[in-house]
Amino acid sequence: MMPANRTREVDESLVKEKEAAFAEYIQRKGLKTTRQRNTIISVFFKLRGHISVEELLNEVKKVNPRIGYATVYRTLHLLVESNLVEERRFGDGLARYEGHSDVEHHDHMICLECGIISEFYNPRLEALQEKLAEENNFEIYRHRLELYGACKDKEECNRRKNSKAAEARGA
Ligand SMILES: [Zn+2]
Ligand SMILES: [Zn+2]
Repeated sequence: MMPANRTREVDESLVKEKEAAFAEYIQRKGLKTTRQRNTIISVFFKLRGHISVEELLNEVKKVNPRIGYATVYRTLHLLVESNLVEERRFGDGLARYEGHSDVEHHDHMICLECGIISEFYNPRLEALQEKLAEENNFEIYRHRLELYGACKDKEECNRRKNSKAAEARGA
């Protein structure tokens, strides 16, 4: 199992690679490259993790305060279309975006109290799913497994919950 909330180092070459792949996609689509879009993309790939539109907007505004919600939203959707990013919706229904292909396949555990999202990967579980499919004469293309519950560490969980509530009040 991977450690929960593993921190991912910013990998500059990976960011560059993603930017190039996206530029190629934009060109294929016959769209124009815009500086705002480039800013959004590089901020997104530097952030990593499971990012909501609002979270991305906050970070983007630190770089260019003129960039608005609609541009961030549209850019994220282009990233999803280009297959560089996956949209995920966990228990709260809020769309979160995760750059994939840079991270190996993983599944998620979601705390319904504090909202923290942990990642895990278990080869035995993966193999079991393959076996189940086999037994059902079924071929799996992809899967997503989401476990909902709550942190056992109530102290940490409450601390996160309170700081999130304070953040929401301040925003
Ligand atoms: Zn994830
Ligand atoms: Zn929690």
